Amino acid sequence: DVQKETLGFQTEAKQLLHLMIHSLYSNREIFLRELISNASDAIDKLRFAALSDDSLLEGQGDFQVQVDVDKEAGTITISDNGIGMTREEVIENLGTIAKSGTAAFLESLSGDQKKDSQLIGQFGVGFYSGFIVADRVEVHTRKAGEGADSGVVWESAGEAEFTIESRAKDSRGTAITLFLKDDCKEFADDFRVRSVIKKYSDHISVPVLMLKPEMPTAEEDEEKAEDKAPEYEAVNEATALWTRPRSEVSDDEYKAFYRHVSHDFDEPLSWSHNKVEGKLEYTSLLYLPKRAPFDMWNRDMARGLKLYVQRTFIMDEAEQFLPLYLRFVKGVVDSNDLPLNVSREILQQDGAVESMRSALTKRVLDMLGKLAKKEGDDYATFWKEFGQVLKEGPAEDFANKEKIAKLLRFSTTHTDSPEHDQSLEDYVSRMQDGQDKIYYVVAENFNTARKSPHLEVFRKKGIEVLLLTDRVDDWLMNHLQEFDGKQLQDVARGALDLASDSEEEKAEQEKLQKESEGLVERLAKVLEDKVSEVRATARLTESAACLVVGDYDMGAQMRRIMEAAGQ
Ligand code: ADP
Ligand code: MG
Repeated sequence: DVQKETLGFQTEAKQLLHLMIHSLYSNREIFLRELISNASDAIDKLRFAALSDDSLLEGQGDFQVQVDVDKEAGTITISDNGIGMTREEVIENLGTIAKSGTAAFLESLSGDQKKDSQLIGQFGVGFYSGFIVADRVEVHTRKAGEGADSGVVWESAGEAEFTIESRAKDSRGTAITLFLKDDCKEFADDFRVRSVIKKYSDHISVPVLMLKPEMPTAEEDEEKAEDKAPEYEAVNEATALWTRPRSEVSDDEYKAFYRHVSHDFDEPLSWSHNKVEGKLEYTSLLYLPKRAPFDMWNRDMARGLKLYVQRTFIMDEAEQFLPLYLRFVKGVVDSNDLPLNVSREILQQDGAVESMRSALTKRVLDMLGKLAKKEGDDYATFWKEFGQVLKEGPAEDFANKEKIAKLLRFSTTHTDSPEHDQSLEDYVSRMQDGQDKIYYVVAENFNTARKSPHLEVFRKKGIEVLLLTDRVDDWLMNHLQEFDGKQLQDVARGALDLASDSEEEKAEQEKLQKESEGLVERLAKVLEDKVSEVRATARLTESAACLVVGDYDMGAQMRRIMEAAGQ
């Protein structure tokens, strides 16, 4: 039907729109990147769909994005010949934001515009960024393979409502026209727009075309020139960035590509770009983000790499190429071995995928190792954001246990600071002569850990103890067990046998045991049903008594987790 429908934006969409318009204003040119990125996604989707049904191409397989500016009208139009949208899809995609984290996102807003605008990026609401520069947006779209009559127009002024009506469209795909605000007319200027496209969309693998600038012509040629069809030229590089040699890609291009794959407005912390040849052939480009996504602890968080097969986009969020404990890594993998019709199910069983996964895992761990060795705060930034996730590693990935262990950072009695910045290697290098274990204490927070009575004897003897306060630490230590051949020992567990005890000290302890026999017996009787054993100890220097756990009992932290889970 041709009739015009007026629909209301979903409440959360309204809030987001408002926020988008007001908090991204300082960086308004990014709208172009978002709309070109959507156009390129739409082309990727059609290319993929056409693998199984080439009638969708309607005999036109040259993919392109076109950008037209009209200075007089004050408009900019971004058109693509990608998959397009049906009426229902338009309403669904551009009218409601039913994305999983919307509510969580709104709750996590800090009011700090700079921080919040970075969150928007992660959230992926690029389409709405058009309203940063336009007071009216018109979308004319038609789904590939559906016939000209199924074209629809979506229109909105970015407030509470949008309208939708039918309008025929001959060519498949989507054209988005922005009616620019008075102070944003610069985006109707050819030169300005070209430079923004170069800056943000150079790496997009389809050509982004603009009208060729008119050359001044001699008078006699003028008539001829008027008959000529307008000529377009590509403004961007238009080759998939990861297929280019490393030496020919600039840092800025890598950063721009990161924003494209991650939807993160921030810069990446680091990246690793590799081409593998031999039995398996693939290219990977992996990035470490600077900030954790708001939903990192949500089981359904988007994770995984963008998968391409021979440069054809296959799927987003291919999870099979990295383990769960590296779920923060973003990037692409482009394989020459997988079939074009590969599905998620096939990925799960494919032997090539398994080998790629283990190679990519090593790459990420190596990239982290390098980052840790680098001057500056980058590794500290990484550890703050993702350390807790990495701690899941030794349990999930036994083969890389030692590698992961080197990447862990802790707070210790050596620095006596709550910063988690000491590695196990640091600890080992400070071990005393004859010390054969790495000691740690687990507590709820830094102060409790630091004041633990279990530490008294260690402080007295100058033996360093790791101060563990994360929920996963007990679990981590249980899986790690040892590092560099040295056993990890919970100081609150079982009897302590400090190798550094001198003969003299040992004799004294024996004497102490003898003298305390009577007291110990009496205490054991009184506490009969509360403890399993009472022992005299040399581990305390100031406190009168402390509780310890048996060697094979559950750690205190673990017990708290179980209790919290109602067990
Ligand atoms: P995202 O790209 O992260 O999904 P956007 O707000 O940029 O979020 O876009 C929302 C949705 O609108 C897209 O997922 C897509 O389904 C649809 N869409 C946007 N632009 C186009 C386009 N040019 N062609 C087809 N679909 C589009
Ligand atoms: Mg988008």
